[in-house]
Amino acid sequence: MDKDLEKIKNSALSELENASTVDEINTLSVRYLGRKGAVTQYLRHISSLPEQERPAAGKNANQVKKILEDAIKTAKERLEDIREGSESAGIDVTLPGRPALQGTLHPITQINRRICDIFIRMGFDIAEGPEVESDYYNFEALNIPKYHPARDMQDTFYMSDNIVLRTHTSPIQVRMMEQYAPPIRVVAPGKVYRCDSDLTHTPMFHQIEGLLVDEKVSFGDLKGVLTELVHQVFDTETSLRFRPSFFPFTEPSAEVDILCVMCRGKGCKVCSHTGWLEVLGCGMVHPAVFENVGYDTRRYTGFAFGMGVERIAMLKYGINDIRLFFESDDRFLRQF
Ligand SMILES: [Zn+2]
Repeated sequence: MDKDLEKIKNSALSELENASTVDEINTLSVRYLGRKGAVTQYLRHISSLPEQERPAAGKNANQVKKILEDAIKTAKERLEDIREGSESAGIDVTLPGRPALQGTLHPITQINRRICDIFIRMGFDIAEGPEVESDYYNFEALNIPKYHPARDMQDTFYMSDNIVLRTHTSPIQVRMMEQYAPPIRVVAPGKVYRCDSDLTHTPMFHQIEGLLVDEKVSFGDLKGVLTELVHQVFDTETSLRFRPSFFPFTEPSAEVDILCVMCRGKGCKVCSHTGWLEVLGCGMVHPAVFENVGYDTRRYTGFAFGMGVERIAMLKYGINDIRLFFESDDRFLRQF
């Protein structure tokens, strides 16, 4: 057989074998067997050959034509079989693929880590504790006896008379102080539970609690640490104010407000036109708490503070409904 013809046949067969759609096969059919196709062209040029070569060349060319026609038919049948096979299995091979979704860290996790990182850089350790807690650690050791009206400040889930779902992360402070002698510098992040649910409250939310105990710790130290925290979480333009308040486990106690991140103090809906937003509670550890863990109250002083992570995240990202964090709506979560 003529070398040119052989080449045409081989390349046509190998291309047909690799064709994966009917369109590709049809294109190949035109390219080789169409009016201007390679085989047709070859057949045409036979008339220009010397007379004695023409019969053999014609015979070979027609043979190749037949081989290619059969190969085209077989290739189409092969694709048809694949399609039918997948259709009967309920698979549409023509559908575009589904890209794998890439996950991101939950906004609460992001803020949680960010706040913990800030404290780690200030030399604090991270501590954790049980979410199902005894009445003693959740209340009594923190200077909230059973009869104390301050218990009404926290809508508690009681498991039994003496077991509660912790209402704050403060029990971790007590556990740390029982284990270690001063100096202590620790932050405790974790889930807490209160029987409350509306636009700004969920039955489970996250707190970060901080405790520092050493000799000569003053309210000034507390102010410095919290100012640094707010400046790093928001920005250095965000000023703070300390408002006298009451917590049974600190004395004196204060609530910390920051300059409204939305209106910068001018007054808006978010800050109820006061220009300030409440972000955390803090104070100097009450001597009664130190006595409960056996610390010398004449030698040591300390401060403690606690904040809601959701609250910080809502202010940071301008979110007005806390429940969005826990509805697992991908459209919401993907924005962070
Ligand atoms: Zn405002």
